[in-house]
Amino acid sequence: MTSASDSFIEALPKAELHVHLEGTLEPALKIVLARRNGHAIQSMTEDDIRAGYVFDDLPSFLALYYEGVELLQTEQDFYDLCYAYLKKVASQNVLYTEMFFDPQLHTRRGIAFETVIKGISRARADAQRDFGIRSQLIMCFIREMSAESADETFTQALPYLSEIIGVGLDSDEKGNPPAKFAHVFRRAREAGLHVTMHCDIDQQNTHEHIRQALEDVGSERLDHGLNVLEKPELLQQARERHIPFTVCPFPNMAIRPGSNEKDIRALLDAGLTITINSDDPGYMQSVYMNEAMKMARDGAALTPEELVTISRNAFNAAWIGAEERRAYLDRLDTFARREGVAAIG
Ligand SMILES: [Zn+2]
Repeated sequence: MTSASDSFIEALPKAELHVHLEGTLEPALKIVLARRNGHAIQSMTEDDIRAGYVFDDLPSFLALYYEGVELLQTEQDFYDLCYAYLKKVASQNVLYTEMFFDPQLHTRRGIAFETVIKGISRARADAQRDFGIRSQLIMCFIREMSAESADETFTQALPYLSEIIGVGLDSDEKGNPPAKFAHVFRRAREAGLHVTMHCDIDQQNTHEHIRQALEDVGSERLDHGLNVLEKPELLQQARERHIPFTVCPFPNMAIRPGSNEKDIRALLDAGLTITINSDDPGYMQSVYMNEAMKMARDGAALTPEELVTISRNAFNAAWIGAEERRAYLDRLDTFARREGVAAIG
């Protein structure tokens, strides 16, 4: 079987299920925001900024990420951030995206929840009008912050729940298991929201965290979650429940150099439902959806059939209604037929 070509990947109708809006902040937009808000990095070049993007684990990445977040101040800043991401991925044939956002990174520095969500919501509407791309929001809690802070954030979000499709959990996993947030996840489920969470790669107590996510706090997906491969009982559960895994080739490569290849192939061979996603493209050499899929293809020698299946997995895992899903899957089927690829599933 031959690997899929670049042009096949570029034309493939896609959905993205794991991208952090704050992580889409590109150096060029950083400079615009710094000028607008009078921040010192306005005198830096894009290359200077990129040269500082060195990380090899989760804490070193988060330090960079939190620094960038400081540049987001006004509703217009959040609008510009979200609109730029949606414009970019719409040009890559991403039809639909579910975007994480981290309100606590902003509210803890005195920015109102309303400022954040209004800017993002306006950008979503404008991007749908301008580029036809549909998007929804997943509100993430910062796991190194307290459970009480997560609860307060959920309360702040109550007037805006119609703008939010699900909740997630991200940031520093060490010592911050899913069970810490059981209460807020229960509130979210009772309010009719979907639930997902990060189980980052090679974290302390990772298997127990994956177990809690699947069994105790009702996670419908696993973001990353690759360590599931090491525990047959978790693997079996994930497979039987068809838990979608949102796999992100770039950070995999950064954290486990050289292992992307066998990781993605091993997930597929284990019969798991995987999707391919970008994560934080602004900090990860502008690896958006097309580039992430090419990385996965290069690593695991993915065939056109496998990429169609991966794209189908993403549309099936999306938190959307039956009619919308059917419309995306029809477009995917039409594409696959045109390319002579047998539609699977
Ligand atoms: Zn992530």
